[in-house]
Amino acid sequence: MKYVLVTGGVVSGLGKGVTASSIGVVLKACGLRVTSIKIDPYLNTDAGTMSPFEHGEVFVLDDGGEVDLDLGNYERFLDLRLTRDNNITTGKIYQSVLEKERKGDYLGKTVQVVPHITDAIKDWIESVSAIPVDGKEGPADVCVIELGGTVGDIESMPFIEALRQLFFSAGPDNFCLIHVSLVPVLGVVGEQKTKPTQHSVRELRALGLTPHFLACRSAQPLLENTKQKLSQFCHVPGANILNIHDVPNIWHVPLLLRKQNAHEAILKQLALHSVARPPNLQEWTTRAETFDNLTNSVKIAMVGKYVGLTDSYLSVVKALLHACIACSLKPSIEWIAASDLEDESAKQTPEAHSKAWETLRNSACVLVPGGFGDRGVTGMILAAKYARENKVPYLGICLGMQISVIEMSRSVLGWKGANSTEFDEHAPNPVVIFMPEGSRTHMGNTMRLGSRRTLLQTADCITAKLYHNPEYVDERHRHRYEVNPEVVGDLEKTGLKFVGKDESGQRMEILELHNHPFYVGVQFHPEYKSRPGKPSALFLGLILAATGQLEAYVKSHQNGSI
Ligand code: GLN
Repeated sequence: MKYVLVTGGVVSGLGKGVTASSIGVVLKACGLRVTSIKIDPYLNTDAGTMSPFEHGEVFVLDDGGEVDLDLGNYERFLDLRLTRDNNITTGKIYQSVLEKERKGDYLGKTVQVVPHITDAIKDWIESVSAIPVDGKEGPADVCVIELGGTVGDIESMPFIEALRQLFFSAGPDNFCLIHVSLVPVLGVVGEQKTKPTQHSVRELRALGLTPHFLACRSAQPLLENTKQKLSQFCHVPGANILNIHDVPNIWHVPLLLRKQNAHEAILKQLALHSVARPPNLQEWTTRAETFDNLTNSVKIAMVGKYVGLTDSYLSVVKALLHACIACSLKPSIEWIAASDLEDESAKQTPEAHSKAWETLRNSACVLVPGGFGDRGVTGMILAAKYARENKVPYLGICLGMQISVIEMSRSVLGWKGANSTEFDEHAPNPVVIFMPEGSRTHMGNTMRLGSRRTLLQTADCITAKLYHNPEYVDERHRHRYEVNPEVVGDLEKTGLKFVGKDESGQRMEILELHNHPFYVGVQFHPEYKSRPGKPSALFLGLILAATGQLEAYVKSHQNGSI
């Protein structure tokens, strides 16, 4: 196995994930098979219990792993299906070591960070890198490892030490270290400053790792003399100083790397020159340029719990982007804090209330994404009602589907007490209920998680037509509550149709509303499997409906002309 390790210095939030996945893209374009590992040095076992409003969204994998959002980047950029073990955390490593200690596997030895934790890290990396994740058999050629955090953080020390040892045992031809750093411009003089990078490289070298490459983030392209300085002071050859300056969209990053011949230098470092071909990035060039030149946009109202940190809904945003590009449109996402739509807000914050409603009314479609807890639920119900009554295309994801069910029960069935037991444990009409297999005491890894099959009940539904599959849909789940099977009969009398159910027939997965241009709710999260160039079917449906093209699209596919 050949390893490409990507570390970060100076500050966090440099786009290390995008850099690492772009390196993967370039290597893949050279004909190599690539896998990836993300190391998160925090103590959480996984990202499942972390707040998306602090840490960004929780990404869900096929196997039900709740992982860091960077794994989403890898899946999308490299078109992979990763496993939960591709995300290593301090929590997971300690858990495995402590379990072995309790079993007595260490035979009376004192269990220590070095060598036991570091050995566990090395073993984990070696075994996970061998798992095929690209649909082919056998291990990949290259494993890109991204070390989260910045070099020098106390919690990443055991990982740095383990990676140093891994480098030593893998040998120089099998290891390539790329350090992502920041070159800021300060003051009126506007000079590109290399000192922060020098310091962080020095820190890395003090820990026994010398970077082979620098990937410098900067606003403008690096000047020749900045590069020379970096080369001289950081002990990195000039040809290995890569520059990722700001670009109009992230799909330019692999192109930027190729332009700087990063692939040649990395292949040389990994002694892979003879097996690789020149990188074919035609698809990326087309996508990056097409996006830059798009002029028309479509307004999408995103009605969520909080809207401060857009990373909280990262995969939804990406899925909208993929769908819009397929329709030659730029997404214009209008963020609406659901609570601003509520009557209460009209009294407390009238300006925010009227602005929220104006934004909603000016949008071409409405999306209510997944979420937990009761904040903003009333506002989401109002948004779903507005979309239903005004025939505005609506996509409700997970919580968004449950919202539709509550809304229909209250407005159409007249059940005033309809609610989810998540928000009101003693709701007189519990239309969304806790799933029997859930745990009430443990939050982590206790939901219905990962890829599950949904059986379509009829081929004559918009979902079947968009997925081009009359029988089933495989998508990823992450929920604790479900539609109460006892109220399905009543709900179906209102015009809602549960067109997708799980294999038992008891669990509602997809709802559609008749006599509406596009009103779909899904218990799963279609956003996780959306890819650039392969947009998620339901997101595509939403955008097509928002722009009046859905019918034509469905017809042309039925005739087999596209
Ligand atoms: N809170 C809801 C549930 O647990 C919805 C979850 C979600 O939207 N991911 O079922």
